[in-house]
Amino acid sequence: MTKPTNPKDPRGFFQRHRTLILIVSLLLFLPPLALIFQVSTGDGDFCGPWCPRMFFTWREGMSLSAFLMGFARSFLGVLLLLAILGATFFLGRWWCSHLCPVGGATELGSRLVPRWLKINYSAVPAPPVRYGYLAAYLIAPAVGLGSLCCTYCNFAAVPRFFGALYNPADLVYFFRIYGIINLLLLFLLGFLARGGRAYCNFLCPVGALDALANRIGGRWGKRIRIDTHKCTGCGACKPACPTWAITMEGKGHKKAVIDPHSCMPCGECERVCQEGAVRYGKKS
Ligand code: SF4
Ligand code: SF4
Repeated sequence: MTKPTNPKDPRGFFQRHRTLILIVSLLLFLPPLALIFQVSTGDGDFCGPWCPRMFFTWREGMSLSAFLMGFARSFLGVLLLLAILGATFFLGRWWCSHLCPVGGATELGSRLVPRWLKINYSAVPAPPVRYGYLAAYLIAPAVGLGSLCCTYCNFAAVPRFFGALYNPADLVYFFRIYGIINLLLLFLLGFLARGGRAYCNFLCPVGALDALANRIGGRWGKRIRIDTHKCTGCGACKPACPTWAITMEGKGHKKAVIDPHSCMPCGECERVCQEGAVRYGKKS
C-alpha cells in the first residue's frame, strides 16, 4: 500500500530525489560500472584502499607498526570514514540515507517485495545490538576469533550479488559457507526486512560509528526534528520510517519521538506527516 503523502511535501531537494540519488550511487559503486574504484585504484570493489572498516581492526599478534600500516594501505577508506563522520556530526547521516550503495541496494530491493512477505524487526532494540556487534567486531580479531569485518561484510556480499549475474567467480562465492551466510543476511536483514535496513541497524560497524556521531552532534548539527506543538500523535510517520527510529511516547496524548541513534535524514516521516510537524534543521 502506498503511504499517504503530505500534498504540500515540505521536503528539501535531496530528500525528494533520494531514490534517484541512491540509484546513481549504486551505478557508480557497484559492478559492472564500479566507476569510483576503477578510476581511482583500478580495483572493482571496496576490498582495497577504499575499505572504511578494515584499517581500524587490530588482529591477534599484530605489531603496532603493522596496525598503523593498515591506515596507510586503506588511506582512501580512512579519509572516507573521517568524511562520513564529520558530515554526520554537522548534517546527520547523509551517507547512510543517500550515498551508501549497499544500504541503498537493500532498501530499494525491499520496496519490490510485497509487504506480507517482509519481516518486521522493529521490536528489536537496534542500538544495543548495533553497539554490541561493533564491540564484538573490534574484539574478535584481537583475541583470535577471526575477522567478522571481512567474513560478514555487506560491502563484500552486495557487489558480488550483482556481479554474480555475469561473473562466475562472484557466483562461486555464494556456494561457500560464508557466502551462503552472507546471502542469508542479505535477504533476511535486507531485501526481506521491513524498510530494508535491518543489516544497517544491527550489523554495520560504519553505521554504528555513524550513529554515535549522529547522537553526539545532535545538539549542534542539523537533524530531522519533530515539533511537539504541531504533532497530533496520529502515528502515520512510524510505519514510514525505514530504520524504525520513531516511537510514540508520552502519557495520555502520545507524540512522535525520534531515536537519534537510528535516524538518518531520509525524510520519509516528513513526506507522510500531514501536520507539517517534521522538519530538517538545527535545534531551535
Ligand atoms: S510527526 Fe506528524 S505523522 Fe508523526 S505522529 Fe506527529 S503528526 Fe503524526
Ligand atoms: S525518523 Fe524520519 S528521517 Fe529519520 S530515518 Fe525515520 S523516516 Fe527517515
